[in-house]
Amino acid sequence: MSGRTHIRACPERTCVGCRERAAKGDLLRIAVIEEACVPDPRGTLPGRGAYLHPAQVCLDLAVRRRAFSRAFRGRGPLDTTALGRYIEQVAQQATP
Ligand SMILES: [Zn+2]
Repeated sequence: MSGRTHIRACPERTCVGCRERAAKGDLLRIAVIEEACVPDPRGTLPGRGAYLHPAQVCLDLAVRRRAFSRAFRGRGPLDTTALGRYIEQVAQQATP
């Protein structure tokens, strides 16, 4: 049997904001620590992760749809302050 041509070098994830699929490397991993969403750009934090484009629009969408609570299985209202601040910084670096 040699039918295994699955390339696993570029895993895809779905952005919890806009729901579009993107390469894992283009999305920001988000973990939850003590009722707060925290950015996990290195993917080192334990537990479940959600993936989001590091963009304000996607964060807004995710917050509006309570996508984080869903992604993290009914963990109460989650604080996204730290996450918002992180994305703000990333956005600033990205704009020339
Ligand atoms: Zn997105």
